[in-house]
Amino acid sequence: MQPFTYQRAADAASAVRLAARPTREPPTRAPAQFLAGGTNIVDYMRLGVTRPESLVDINGLQGQLGRIEAAPEGLRLGALARMAEVADHPAVRRDYPVIADSLALAASAQIRNMGALAGNVLQRTRCPYFRDTHWRACNKREPGSGCAAREGVNRKQAVLGVSESCIAAYPGDFAQALVALGASVETLGPRGPRRLAFEQLHREPGNTPHIETVLEPGELVTGFTIPAGPWTRRSLYLKIRDRASYEFALASAAVALDLDGETVREVRIALGGVATRPWRAHEAEAALKGRALTSGSAREAAEVAFASAVTHGANDYKPELGRRTLVRALLQAKTMEL
Ligand code: SF4
Repeated sequence: MQPFTYQRAADAASAVRLAARPTREPPTRAPAQFLAGGTNIVDYMRLGVTRPESLVDINGLQGQLGRIEAAPEGLRLGALARMAEVADHPAVRRDYPVIADSLALAASAQIRNMGALAGNVLQRTRCPYFRDTHWRACNKREPGSGCAAREGVNRKQAVLGVSESCIAAYPGDFAQALVALGASVETLGPRGPRRLAFEQLHREPGNTPHIETVLEPGELVTGFTIPAGPWTRRSLYLKIRDRASYEFALASAAVALDLDGETVREVRIALGGVATRPWRAHEAEAALKGRALTSGSAREAAEVAFASAVTHGANDYKPELGRRTLVRALLQAKTMEL
């Protein structure tokens, strides 16, 4: 591991000041990085994938950035709230089950106890070529070096939002719930606070896969706001994986439904395990709105959701797995007891 300096921030503003360094690099390659739960960044520092010169520890800001606030107009989650705390919160479990599910299924109990929400949404891909620095060709780790996964081991790679430069799947679960529920993300950076639609936070790889979000270097995620809606209670997260626990999704679906009898008044769909970023399936939602939710209409929506899928051999199975996952999630949500 490369030597680095360590500083503890006293508050959010001082964390941003401590992380401010002149750089042209995106946040993932910036000289100063934030340390919260440490379940992802420490891992990648040990592997030599991430080599910050300085870590700014923000764990002391739990009081300021770790709150869970449920109100009639929506839910606000502080960036440093721990995954387990949010997953177990009674208001989250009752009114936003898709959020509770996505966090409960995300990782082992130890990681859920340590992992902070912001770190969870910013976690980086598990592509084996990205994690193993012995492999030279990885555009995400070393821009311009190529992509070993396109012709190599790609069974778990993405089929939606892929590019010539990178086909790595976004590994998180919670982000799909935020995307489906139309959440906003709040940040504090060198240029002050800002708020943006969570769906705009992550970027598709294009020809710059090392730039994963629209965050600026030294910009700190401070919280998430999820608006209340008649669809949040009838919501769930379905995760399909190689084994029942401690595993990333091969395909997943976050769905939220507002029904008038059998008819879909509103539906929100986000897909995981199959895309390069948290993936809102707007066209599939449009295909369902105003129609009776049946296995037939759910299947049609799933066909629409994967119409643009591109596969690379070992992941040829993913579009069909993704379609079946979405159909099952929709039909399961339909029968939820409220
Ligand atoms: Fe690197 Fe992306 Fe290719 Fe994986 S898929 S080797 S992360 S460029």
